[in-house]
Amino acid sequence: MHAPDPASSRPWKPTPLAALGGAPAFAEPLHVGRPNVPDRAKLLERIEGALDRRWFTNDGPLVQEFEAALRRQLQVKHVVAMCNGTTALEIAIRALGLKGEVIVPSFTFVATAHALQWQEITPVFADIEPATHLIDPAQIERLITPRTTGIIGVHTWGRPCDVAALAEIADRRGLTLLFDAAHAMGCTHHGAPIGRFGAAEVFSFHATKCVQAFEGGAVATNDDALAEKMRLMRNFGFAGYDRVVYLGINGKLSEINAAMGLTSLEDLPRVVMHNRRNFQLYHHGLGGLPGVRLLDYEQAASASAVHDQREARNYQYVVLECDSAQSPLTRDELVEVLTAENVRARRYFYPGCHRMEPYRTLFPDAGKQLPVTEEVAAKVLLLPTGPTVGEEEIQTICGILHRAAAESAEVRSALPPPEVDSPARRIL
Ligand SMILES: *Cc1c(COP(=O)(O)O)cnc(C)c1O
Repeated sequence: MHAPDPASSRPWKPTPLAALGGAPAFAEPLHVGRPNVPDRAKLLERIEGALDRRWFTNDGPLVQEFEAALRRQLQVKHVVAMCNGTTALEIAIRALGLKGEVIVPSFTFVATAHALQWQEITPVFADIEPATHLIDPAQIERLITPRTTGIIGVHTWGRPCDVAALAEIADRRGLTLLFDAAHAMGCTHHGAPIGRFGAAEVFSFHATKCVQAFEGGAVATNDDALAEKMRLMRNFGFAGYDRVVYLGINGKLSEINAAMGLTSLEDLPRVVMHNRRNFQLYHHGLGGLPGVRLLDYEQAASASAVHDQREARNYQYVVLECDSAQSPLTRDELVEVLTAENVRARRYFYPGCHRMEPYRTLFPDAGKQLPVTEEVAAKVLLLPTGPTVGEEEIQTICGILHRAAAESAEVRSALPPPEVDSPARRIL
């Protein structure tokens, strides 16, 4: 079947697949998380203001305005802006006094684990739930040892962890609960913005995130003393011109970053609306493809929790699960097919932190305890979305996937064998 199916409106790639020698569908690479440029005039006006003031960093007016805007957005008492999300995680971990061992999911961006290991705290990897990709509270208890001091939950794909179950374990076992909320700007849990749960929540404003500041991060907390401590740590421990009261580092956000952060935050409602529409277009466009499904944003965090229509999601990621037993092509073959078309689909968070250094050497057997992580890491594929991706691009991408499924035998024989180092593998 090489011709369009007239019975459906299903889009097909008109020319041969690039994997079979056709021209790539896109002249320029289409990335997951291509940065969004918010209101350019407003951004430049803010930057001009900073230039006029000659106040470029050190808690300037734009950083203070950004923190105030984030406090309103997150409905939280304190927001401490930082130079990036990883430093924000490191400072939060240190200010909370975490040490020894901390339980984290392995299925996360490696920074969550690195922020611990960097300060010689051992990340102990917990498995995730297959339906949600979120840390599985039922797996945590058996990982607790006398050295355990905390749990870091990650609101992966912007969907909240089972906050109540994690808080119950943390309270009962005397552990500190911290959240990596890098994906969760604009998302809610039980109608309240993510950002106010646990002892603190950490955000990233990396260029690829839905609110971005070129680089940037923040910690949100309702704890006055913790916020004060993090402010000191962010600025070398300076409490006055010549008075250092704490061991600190340089975690400050600059004014130009805050200018972008503020302007990007104002653009969030538009970005979310666009992403939601993209998600629905993918949902429609991928219908009928065997062995693949889109992770549903409407699904509740735990089976027992009732889904609440008021919950907000940012639809920042389009997460495809490819069941290689049922799909005509494996997940990795789909990556090859898409990469050949200049669609840079990504295998987040493949292969899982526990298979990356230094964890792989430190804990060579960790995978045995993480069956769901291994399974999910083998089937997840992220498709391009965001404000720079629209209906036409999505129809083309869906068309490529349909055509690849229909022509799977030819595609498979044309692709290099899995052990060969291919462009898609090198990018990762
Ligand atoms: C982006 C991200 C981080 C790191 O944030 P940076 O601002 O890039 O340092 C941490 N955790 C998760 C889950 C992320 O997605």
